[in-house]
Amino acid sequence: MADITVIGSFVMDMVASVEEFPLAGQTILGKSLSKYPGGKGANQCVAMARLGADAEMIGMLGGDENGRIFRELLKSEGIKTDNIFETHIPTAVAQIQVNNKGENKIVVIPSANFEFGFEHLKQIESVIAKTKLVVLQLELRLDVTYEIIRTCHRLGAPVILNPAPAVRLDEDILRMVDYLTPNETELAVLTQMPTNTQEEVFAAADKLLDIGVKNVIATLGSRGALIATRESKKIISGYKVQAVDTVAAGDSFNGALAKCIAEGKPLEDAVKFANAVGALTVTKRGAIPSLPKLGEVEEFIKNCKNH
Ligand code: ADP
Repeated sequence: MADITVIGSFVMDMVASVEEFPLAGQTILGKSLSKYPGGKGANQCVAMARLGADAEMIGMLGGDENGRIFRELLKSEGIKTDNIFETHIPTAVAQIQVNNKGENKIVVIPSANFEFGFEHLKQIESVIAKTKLVVLQLELRLDVTYEIIRTCHRLGAPVILNPAPAVRLDEDILRMVDYLTPNETELAVLTQMPTNTQEEVFAAADKLLDIGVKNVIATLGSRGALIATRESKKIISGYKVQAVDTVAAGDSFNGALAKCIAEGKPLEDAVKFANAVGALTVTKRGAIPSLPKLGEVEEFIKNCKNH
């Protein structure tokens, strides 16, 4: 058992670097192939562990080489792995092509992630009952994620739901979410409202509050994030950095937010810290390699005194 329990996905990213994307029916020779552990669940769990959080990861891995790589990675990051299940289905893989313009095409095969089911949830109820905070995303089966949220609600465990990838969610489920952290695209899909201007973002957040979400924290890229509650709405501005790769910005933000909430920090301080972590993440390439350690974040905040 740990302070924070992430129940989520593992995805091994297989990244082919190509000059140009192949056309339908065409075979091309690529430049290189790299393999990186990822998936929103694993990324967020590593993000919070690097910041010093006491974290446990729960999910489903295949009994394959990729599964072993994930187990070793989590252990090396000090993450608890006692409740990671194993299946004969392979660990999830993403096939990613990146062209010379930096554009990408991605196919995720959920494989083992979709084997995490109701029977596994039953087995981790005692973990949920004791943890301070549960962190979820939408890369497991949606019906199972709904049941995880109902279980957390019944057992009194607060939930951060990062609603990514973007889908519409049942209002009965949204009502049980303590902290909902959409980016602007996800906010638009969740509410079926535009989110192009600040007023539109505020109106969309209001809709979620009206449904019954307790705290909406909408991430706004370089502009920072909006905290919206029944009492107030406030934009916490982002840090100015030279962005080289925005992959995992949302994941690092969520990991940082979870760490601060589990520590009982006021929400505004938590979002300020998460903005710093998100900003640092976009200054480096990749997902897990770009997630900063606590010391780096403290140093960065100190050097931005006038923020
Ligand atoms: P996602 O990665 O899910 O699309 P965002 O793009 O909103 O989410 O980024 C998440 C957080 O990361 C932002 O709220 C902000 O704190 C930080 N961030 C993202 N992009 C930048 C940037 N270019 N400059 C500074 N901070 C950034």
